[in-house]
Amino acid sequence: MSEILVDEPRGLLMIMSAPSGAGKTSIAREILRMFPGVRFSVSSTTRPPRPGEVNGEDYHFVSEETFREQIARGEFVEWVENYGRLYGTSKKTMAAYLETGHDLILDIEPRGAKAIREHYPHGVFVFVLPPSLSELKARLAKRGEEAAVAQRRLQASLDEIREALWYDYIIFNERLNEAVDRFRAIYIAEKSRRDRFHDKIAAFFK
Ligand code: 5GP
Repeated sequence: MSEILVDEPRGLLMIMSAPSGAGKTSIAREILRMFPGVRFSVSSTTRPPRPGEVNGEDYHFVSEETFREQIARGEFVEWVENYGRLYGTSKKTMAAYLETGHDLILDIEPRGAKAIREHYPHGVFVFVLPPSLSELKARLAKRGEEAAVAQRRLQASLDEIREALWYDYIIFNERLNEAVDRFRAIYIAEKSRRDRFHDKIAAFFK
């Protein structure tokens, strides 16, 4: 049975990306509530916290100086600059969770996701989309930003959506509960893959 042996970390890694306005954060929150064994990878960022965001839970909010030092020490498995702010995923935290058998969700944008794919080819890549272009426009308009800013944000969203083409799964988020159901289904199906059970199956034939 050696041909089905795969060399992968024990935890399952799920990477989710979405343009702003797709509702990705709400989906992740629900999944974490449903599956207490699943962990969320808390990124570091140099952007200031938004109201309600908690340091160490939503992000590690750090200065640019600290972030640059962390880059120099090779602490990030990937990092990007997004609208002038830096975002990065900790190598150590990721490895620690996966190696202790925890499943892990990363909420990162597509450039970072691509870099993660290089290091973790067994990761499961999920892209969350708004139900349609008109709905995306409507959701962005609700932010009440001035026209030029809204236009830039829309363009950035469309550029990101192009990246959806290389992800493993797509979820159109029309209704939150249905989108959560789909994410849950993907998670359970991926957990049920034969190649995750090599040892358990082999135990029947001892
Ligand atoms: P926000 O500032 O709205 O929380 O996040 C902006 C974007 O940065 C989102 O698309 C989010 O998924 C992404 N992001 C958050 N943390 C990371 C990270 O560690 N690495 C990368 N590449 N993107 C991240």
